[in-house]
Amino acid sequence: MLPDYRVRQRDYLLEISRALTEELDLDALLLHILRIAIEMLTGHAGFIALKDDKRGWHIAVHEGIAEALLNYLQRWLEAQPVEGEDTSEAHVPEINRMLNDISMGMLTGVGINMIFQKQVIGQIYVFRNYRGLFSTNDRMLLTSFANQAAIAVRNARLYNETREQSLRLEALLDSAADGILILTPDLKVERMNKALQRLLNTSEEACIGKPSAEVIRWAKPPQGTRLETAVASGWAQNGQNVFYLEGDLVREGLREPLPVGISYGPLFSADDALMNIIASVRDITRFRTAEEMKTSFISVVSHELKTPIALIKGYVSTLRRDDVEWDREIVSESLAVIEEEADRLTEMVEDLLDATRLQAGGLTLKKSELSIPQLARFLADRYTAQTDQHSFVVDFPPDFPALALDEERIRQVLTNLLNNAMKYSPDGEIRISGKLRPKDVVVCVSDRGPGIDPRDLPYVFERFYRSDEAAKTTKGTGLGLYLCREIIRAHEGKIWVDETYKEGSRICFSLPRDQ
Ligand code: ADP
Repeated sequence: MLPDYRVRQRDYLLEISRALTEELDLDALLLHILRIAIEMLTGHAGFIALKDDKRGWHIAVHEGIAEALLNYLQRWLEAQPVEGEDTSEAHVPEINRMLNDISMGMLTGVGINMIFQKQVIGQIYVFRNYRGLFSTNDRMLLTSFANQAAIAVRNARLYNETREQSLRLEALLDSAADGILILTPDLKVERMNKALQRLLNTSEEACIGKPSAEVIRWAKPPQGTRLETAVASGWAQNGQNVFYLEGDLVREGLREPLPVGISYGPLFSADDALMNIIASVRDITRFRTAEEMKTSFISVVSHELKTPIALIKGYVSTLRRDDVEWDREIVSESLAVIEEEADRLTEMVEDLLDATRLQAGGLTLKKSELSIPQLARFLADRYTAQTDQHSFVVDFPPDFPALALDEERIRQVLTNLLNNAMKYSPDGEIRISGKLRPKDVVVCVSDRGPGIDPRDLPYVFERFYRSDEAAKTTKGTGLGLYLCREIIRAHEGKIWVDETYKEGSRICFSLPRDQ
């Protein structure tokens, strides 16, 4: 038969073991261990101190110790070094002496190191308020509680580490710019990060458990093997190769499909079983846009630049003919056409260069004081000399202020707007008007032409955009309004089509008054 206290010790240790598997709150568990240790050692008070890299030495739980004494002990412990593999019970005699002194010999104590992986991670202390030394038995008993406490601390640390790891993983998934989809080996959705929810315009809850094919829906099947076929033929098990698909995805409630590239990669467990297939979904809209830009660029260069070059070449060849004597008037007219076409060519090349420069890194402005009304009058006079069909009106309030602007660039904006007004309206008045608002000034160019089709409105300021009608009937690069927008933006202003104007088209821009 075990002696009575041994039975109680066994029961307590069993109870602690049970609590170890059930209780996740470390402090509650340590307090439980401490209270039992105090009871088993017929003590009156005690504490458990822990040591870690972040907080150093500190009292984790305590029982029956007066506040003032506790503060004193806490401060003393905090001052103890944490470095080194100190497995001696260095603090114990010191703490015992302190308590003995303070209680005038009324308290005796015992302290045991808590050791985990050969490192001291804390100490457990029990005090008695009667004289009498702690026996070897007492120390052995306390050692078993110290071991339990060490296991509790280790569990809690492991649990926290795992939790931190998973939080880190969650944060990583959710902060990733690419969409990430985690699939089960049978291709059902297990997780989906925020970026993918945004890309697909859906929520994770709506997709979890669904087959991948119901979430990754292609507008038309992409080229190559389907994921299901690849997985069925053992792609995941066979190699570590990434499986890549590219195409347009159908999105919940949105009309426009989304161009994406998806890389699938297998994830294996420690015993080599396929755990997951991770899909990383990249929005390749910008890549596609760049591709389209390149195509537009090539088509503009080949169509628009070829026309003036052909005209110039034609006139020059005619004038050079040796067998004909051209009179002065014809020569002069031909040279005028050549000059005009060369100017047009220069303008187009400059627009193309500006657009390329803008893409490479924005505009630098050379600002100086500029009177827009004066510039508008100058341009109106120049254009009046060039056309019989249009008349020009310049209408600005007399107190329209001069602003610090890049004159050349603002001239480019007005020139583009006036060129468009003349190009797209066969005749009638073209008006350049200005008005003042408290924080900015607004300048508009309006014509009496057919106006801008509402279907084209969202796109007219885009690079290379030309309406179908414009492309059929007029020459142009689709860069004019795009460049206007970029120049105005660089001046911190805005540009828009005035949709309230019904007699033709009116394009307005604003510029802040504190330029
Ligand atoms: P481009 O004139 O070379 O086509 P822009 O960027 O200047 O390029 O204009 C883009 C489109 O906006 C034009 O193709 C045309 O459809 C429309 N647009 C611009 N200005 C006018 C205007 N004054 N009247 C009617 N349509 C216009």
